[in-house]
Amino acid sequence: MEVNTTHFARGGRNDFLSVARNISKRLTLDPQTSTRDERLRFALDQAMDGLWDWNVLSGEVYFSPQLKRMLGYGPDEMTPHVETWSRNIHPDDRDQVMSLIEQHLRGRLLRFEAEYRLRNRNGHDIWVHDRGQVCERDAHGLPTRMVGMVQNVTDRKLLELRLEKMASIDDLTQLPNRRAGMAVLSHHIERAQRSGLPLCVGVLDIDAFKSVNDQFGHAMGDAVLHQVATLLRQTLRPCDYVFRSGGEEFILLLPDVAPDTAYDIAADLHAALESTDWDSDLGLDAVTVSIGLACFPHEQASAAKLLDQADLALYRAKELGRNLTCIARDPVAAASLRTSKT
Ligand code: GH3
Ligand code: MG
Ligand code: MG
Repeated sequence: MEVNTTHFARGGRNDFLSVARNISKRLTLDPQTSTRDERLRFALDQAMDGLWDWNVLSGEVYFSPQLKRMLGYGPDEMTPHVETWSRNIHPDDRDQVMSLIEQHLRGRLLRFEAEYRLRNRNGHDIWVHDRGQVCERDAHGLPTRMVGMVQNVTDRKLLELRLEKMASIDDLTQLPNRRAGMAVLSHHIERAQRSGLPLCVGVLDIDAFKSVNDQFGHAMGDAVLHQVATLLRQTLRPCDYVFRSGGEEFILLLPDVAPDTAYDIAADLHAALESTDWDSDLGLDAVTVSIGLACFPHEQASAAKLLDQADLALYRAKELGRNLTCIARDPVAAASLRTSKT
């Protein structure tokens, strides 16, 4: 017998809890008689992490009791096959995990290591950190066996994701910030390059915003920023993005549109601001914005360069009198939009 005793205090009393376990089976694993594998597995089973041992050729997998417990299964449950694991990987993570394993098996990666979501017995996802390595090969050097270790890292991962979200959301407007914008923009540029579809980015700046602060105070300035952000979100298409890039400036990302449609979307934004009753909402006459647009593939294919082009177009919109949209390298169209609004 093995007896574990814990002490705890309850209602001013000292209590002891003892748990007795039959360990005869464990003791029969005599180092002299058991095989190397049995002893190894015994040692691994005592570890806190979940373990797996995969016969690469047959697909058979040994899942340790800890691993099963981590996923909510009893020691005799979970079919010992690689598919029992792979089909429970979150669909968004599956391709990446499989590709990492594949690369390790082909010798491109020294070991397999990934953080991903696994569905547990209740249908909930837990985050795991999984590491593994090929430990046996056939005469031709091809992998035949791989072993690994899984840890439940859900708490840390959820905290990280929360912190990440906090760092990428602007407090005042609740819009994602410039940092998030750059990441999303780069992703969409790559996507546009692959699909051959166009893409437009815009830089939008509130006109004469300093005078709102100067005349009505900073709190009013904040209220205008919040209201403009809400209007932008409501007016843009559901597939468009808007980020607060800093101060009274916003970045727009309009996927799958050519310059003409981007102009129309920008015109909708001007119109939405114009038709807002700023007077009864905030006691202001009007709030207008200027917008600079740059479109891929006409402009260069990097987030920073597209934004530079859009910035130049914005600068021209300000020079031409504000409350209008300019597109990179297209002064004629800018003038015509202005004419149509005046
Ligand atoms: P323009 O039409 O040329 O864009 O003129 P502007 O007055 O909008 O531009 P300027 O760059 O001179 O002023 C921007 C002002 O925005 C200055 C700054 O105090 C204010 N500002 C920046 N961030 C915030 C904020 O979070 N809240 C408030 N209330 N004001 C802000
Ligand atoms: Mg401004
Ligand atoms: Mg500005």
